Amino acid sequence: CGIFAYLNYRVPRTRKEIFETLVKGLQRLEYRGYDSAGVAVDGPNSNEKNSSICLVKKRGKVKALDEELYKQDSMDLEAELDTHFGIAHTRWATHGVPSAVNSHPHRSDKNNEFVVIHNGIITNYKELKKYLQTKGYEFESETDTEVIPKLIKYVFDNWEGEYVSFSSLVERVIQQLEGAFALVFKSIHYPGEAIATRRGSPLLIGVRSKFDLSTEEIPITYNNSTFKHENNENDANKKQRLKSLTCLYSVGDLKAVEYYFASDASAIIEHTNKVIYLEDDDIAAVAEGKLSIHRMNRLAGDDPSRAIQTLQ
Ligand code: GLU
Repeated sequence: CGIFAYLNYRVPRTRKEIFETLVKGLQRLEYRGYDSAGVAVDGPNSNEKNSSICLVKKRGKVKALDEELYKQDSMDLEAELDTHFGIAHTRWATHGVPSAVNSHPHRSDKNNEFVVIHNGIITNYKELKKYLQTKGYEFESETDTEVIPKLIKYVFDNWEGEYVSFSSLVERVIQQLEGAFALVFKSIHYPGEAIATRRGSPLLIGVRSKFDLSTEEIPITYNNSTFKHENNENDANKKQRLKSLTCLYSVGDLKAVEYYFASDASAIIEHTNKVIYLEDDDIAAVAEGKLSIHRMNRLAGDDPSRAIQTLQ
């Protein structure tokens, strides 16, 4: 089983190039074993005001999925997409037989408002499913995973207040989950944005940019505010802290960047050797091309940043 996702921000790519990147990413993960595969990409008429998501899922080999992708006649393969986020998955069934409907991505509803790919097992899915069914959610698959897109839509629809960030929604969702997971989310409500999180299953992010990375670490924010250090910290500490609080890119530099999300480095290394390994319960978000990492609580001894590592 495997996860691969690709976000191009202000790096124009044709739909064909995006499909090729996603399929190749899955092929690199084939050795991990799987029984079916699927992708979610923006629909043919998506733009900033009007976004739609298209799912293509297939039982069997990645090759079969690849062929299926090119049969989608509504998809203009030469269309150039300036910014796009595509997610792809190979499934090793744990709950529900191998079939197209049980393959990932799974969705919140028929409009594909939220879609998700998952590696791992949600052990409390039965309770969550029962609860969501009492709220009127209809399930289409036999998987444990499907509670996740339903739950995020439920949180979104019941959010009080005008705006909620994608990462806050995901934070609420993972608070409810038990078991092991690596998850990547995409939504029509957050076009061009990506969320990745994990607990117990591996997930890493590759970054590629023509511009120098302005820092070698990504600061972590806690409960939407940056972690505050004690008042009596010495200057060296302070300097270090300010350095580690710099964003990955300064806004002026944000002209072009690509992100790759995968279960292991073998799917990323051909694109970039700059990677960030996520820790349990990290929520990584890309919005407007900028990567941030958020955590619920700061545990004692927690490192308040994640290093950008260079793979050899
Ligand atoms: N438990 C999920 C399912 O059966 C995910 C399996 C996987 O890791 O591929 O669909």
